[in-house]
Amino acid sequence: MTSRITKLRQLLKARSLDGIVVTYLPHVRYLCGFTGSAAVLLVTRKHAVCFSDFRYAEQLTAELVNGVKGIIDTKTYERMLADRLVEPGMTIGIQDAAVTMAAFEDVKKRLRKVKLVSTGSLVTDLVMIKTPEEIADIRKAADIAAKVYRHILGMVKPGMRENEVALEIGYMGRKLGAEGDAFGIIVASGERGALPHGRASTKKIRKGELVTLDFGFTYNGLNSDMTRTFAVGTPGDEARRIYDIVLEAQIKGVAAARAGVTGKHVDDACRDIIKAAGYGDQFGHSTGHGLGIDVHEMPRLSFVNSDTKLQPGMVVTVEPGIYIPGRCGVRIEDDIAITADGCDVLTSSPKKLIVV
Ligand code: ZN
Ligand code: ZN
Repeated sequence: MTSRITKLRQLLKARSLDGIVVTYLPHVRYLCGFTGSAAVLLVTRKHAVCFSDFRYAEQLTAELVNGVKGIIDTKTYERMLADRLVEPGMTIGIQDAAVTMAAFEDVKKRLRKVKLVSTGSLVTDLVMIKTPEEIADIRKAADIAAKVYRHILGMVKPGMRENEVALEIGYMGRKLGAEGDAFGIIVASGERGALPHGRASTKKIRKGELVTLDFGFTYNGLNSDMTRTFAVGTPGDEARRIYDIVLEAQIKGVAAARAGVTGKHVDDACRDIIKAAGYGDQFGHSTGHGLGIDVHEMPRLSFVNSDTKLQPGMVVTVEPGIYIPGRCGVRIEDDIAITADGCDVLTSSPKKLIVV
């Protein structure tokens, strides 16, 4: 199997770069395996070196893969780069989207004889296409989420607080083998369902309310992200109506996803259904996003993305929703892996409205 460092070097060559400074920690982990909270990775044609500090001396040696060497030093990484590994005249890419202005100015000062350029989407392009092994890890993370969802359906009762449900989701995920939550767990019941990103609050869940859960887990560095909306007791007519519309839209979106179509094409498939039902203005976010080492990565499945075509190996979410301020909301989200003629749905939980 071609290592990720080898693939990165191929991209460097294609873009006429002599090297790259990787500062975004999830990308550092992806490329060299190191999971610590402080690191910078330098990859040139000759060197592949990960810098960290004293706290990580042992962990760095234990975790590094793909032939990357570890260096522990008390100097700042800018000094280390300048001192030993970067030669004058080189063109070095820097992850400008993941560097502070102050750090950038420092690197610029230290590496005066080097041409610094933005890496743009260089590493992003690499992580966007998943190997079968990576897709298997996302599927495992999605399976943990599906199991947790089933458990939650069996224990939620009127009178429980949203944050108690969130606590149980996080606890069960860990128990089933997750490294941790993929992001802050969303539990939004009743009128709070109208907040697309309603973090779990102290609100009690009442009988007859819809509850939206949006959560995911990290497994082997890769993430899942699922949303389901269910009812605690019989829901009202409006809640039922918008549920059916969102479900139809979500199914159409999944059916439209395949290699060769744009993000906009999938977004249109969902949005057209919701618009035709008269709720176009109540669906204000995009239909989905890439998913992997980050919970939100490229490509976007959005009305503005008419450039990027979906490719086999991409993993994306399909998550239309309808939000009625002051009353309720519904969102349904699956993770899917794009294939040549369609997609492989990684989220296995049922989508029909469940009343507990
Ligand atoms: Zn989500
Ligand atoms: Zn999502």
